Amino acid sequence: DTLINQIAAGEVVERPASVVKELVENALDAGASRVDIDLEEGGVRLIRIRDNGSGIPADELPLAVSRHATSKIASLDDLEGVATLGFRGEALPSIASVSRFSMSTRREDAEHGSVLEIDGGRVGEVMPRPHPQGTTVEVRDLFFNVPARRKFLRAERTELGHIEEWLRQLALARPDVELRVSHNGKPSRRWKGEGGGAGAPSLLSDTRLHETLGQEFTRNVLRVDHAAAGLRLHGWIAQPAYNRASTDQQYLFVNGRSVRDRSIAHAVKQAYSDVLCHGRHPAYVLFLELDPRRVDVNVHPAKHEVRFRDSRLIHDFVYRTLHEALAGTRA
Ligand code: ADP
Ligand code: MG
Repeated sequence: DTLINQIAAGEVVERPASVVKELVENALDAGASRVDIDLEEGGVRLIRIRDNGSGIPADELPLAVSRHATSKIASLDDLEGVATLGFRGEALPSIASVSRFSMSTRREDAEHGSVLEIDGGRVGEVMPRPHPQGTTVEVRDLFFNVPARRKFLRAERTELGHIEEWLRQLALARPDVELRVSHNGKPSRRWKGEGGGAGAPSLLSDTRLHETLGQEFTRNVLRVDHAAAGLRLHGWIAQPAYNRASTDQQYLFVNGRSVRDRSIAHAVKQAYSDVLCHGRHPAYVLFLELDPRRVDVNVHPAKHEVRFRDSRLIHDFVYRTLHEALAGTRA
């Protein structure tokens, strides 16, 4: 089983940033309104994610960290099929198979908390352990037992950079959640939760935009908000003069989910080059909202791609909205 989990980990766990992503998404799934993220050595030495979500009943801890789909994998030939289906329910067993892992948790109604430790895939016993309501997952020494993978980890700063990049996406997508980050024992980032609390994602405020992408970005963007034909596009796009723009300041969220989409990226770029007569990479933070039935989000769960039912229409909507906003500034 450990071997299968390690093979799955090859898909789920590319680097510390993928662990952070999986664990924080679990915390949000559990309804957390606050998530603390403690890192050491770029996450390679330690990733600790603590949430104030629902917690897990002690007797369900072993289930949470076990593979639900084991029986589906009859042979190695099947692994490819599994890979393309994504890995629902496989994040925790995969991560636990390539690290020193522990999960401590308490439900609100439980008398005491509990902990389950897994060392390189070897599952221990559920033990009592004090814990406030919610869950803490610790992942130490990532890939300690898979030297071939560990070898491919980059310098501390590079791995930390990947984590921070993902955290920026999260901070933009979920302004309702409080986030605290520390690295090597020092607090590094803090975002206060805004608006309606967990489960009620509020619109991104100027404050959080500023806190996330910095003053230079905030000072040089235009507000966009346009709705038509059941589509709404809102957010910020770089002013024509903002030329520090690079591909790393391009954020697109479809129904609150960070997404990469070629067609929309093309529409944005086209709007800029038609108005400004150059095709630089513009900076933007854009939220597209539409009826969930018009978009298929399960094309590739790990790669954040989506498929629109009416891709052409959406392309043209984005293009026209931005073209108008940019042309207005040129006068
Ligand atoms: P998935 O998220 O796809 O269900 P995971 O392996 O990431 O699979 O998690 C397995 C299960 O463990 C989740 O479905 C959830 O029931 C439970 N779980 C994981 N993390 C948390 C958490 N932070 N709080 C509460 N429950 C959790
Ligand atoms: Mg998960």
